[in-house]
Amino acid sequence: MTLIRLNGVTKSYPASSKDAAPVVAVDDVSLAVDAGEVCGIIGYSGAGKSTVLRLVNALETPTGGSVEIDGTDITRLPERELRTLRGDIGMIFQQFNLFDSRTVAKNVAYPLEVARRPRAEITARVDELLRFVGLADKAKNYPEQLSGGQKQRVGIARALATSPRILLADEATSALDPDTTQEVLALLKRVNQELGVTILVITHEMDVIRTLADRVVVMESGRIIESGAVFDVLSAP
Ligand code: ADP
Ligand code: ADP
Repeated sequence: MTLIRLNGVTKSYPASSKDAAPVVAVDDVSLAVDAGEVCGIIGYSGAGKSTVLRLVNALETPTGGSVEIDGTDITRLPERELRTLRGDIGMIFQQFNLFDSRTVAKNVAYPLEVARRPRAEITARVDELLRFVGLADKAKNYPEQLSGGQKQRVGIARALATSPRILLADEATSALDPDTTQEVLALLKRVNQELGVTILVITHEMDVIRTLADRVVVMESGRIIESGAVFDVLSAP
């Protein structure tokens, strides 16, 4: 079953000045990600990877083409259905994007508070998530008291709070050292295999793709220049 589908998607931004040309960030991209799959998008800075992620979680509207989640075109959804959609899509970031003034538990609880879940349910869910990411003993700590790897594990727990079917990872290990990177990638593999979450990961690091992804898409100048099984596309160096 195809969970995420981009059909001939283009996203261009208006010219920054009168003499400049419009920026075509994403140029006629078609992509299908099956439920349960880990799909990687690799490419240099400026290739259009983050724009693809922002189109998938409807933070951007395409200039052309359509974006479908589970068969629904999300490009013209009313606000109410957009909120439901966002509960179905978790996201993690290079700089973790945690709330520094909230405890670890409060960070993880945040999406559930926004969704107005009952307090008892939030407590139980946060507890379960922190155990899943191995941080049950850090519930009362603040982000500044954690290592980079621990912060990203909090980010993952928060992204999973509403039990999304999709997790978007934007350079999620780029700020981490190699050992910590492996630890976070191993956790993401468990998120995929044990929880069945479909993962779309963007990165400029081949190793991330090799460790985590089933399939890879190579982007350059807004276009897909190659795609296929990781083994076929990224042959060993
Ligand atoms: P990547 O994630 O691969 O580094 P991006 O998707 O961030 O690439 O950017 C692709 C291109 O689109 C770049 O040339 C970038 O400068 C441009 N771009 C991205 N967002 C905007 C924006 N909001 N306004 C104008 N140009 C943008
Ligand atoms: P508050 O004082 O507002 O309860 P806490 O930081 O103690 O702030 O809790 C924030 C949220 O995180 C609460 O909604 C609670 O459900 C959850 N929580 C707090 N501590 C834990 C914990 N040790 N294990 C699991 N969840 C917790």
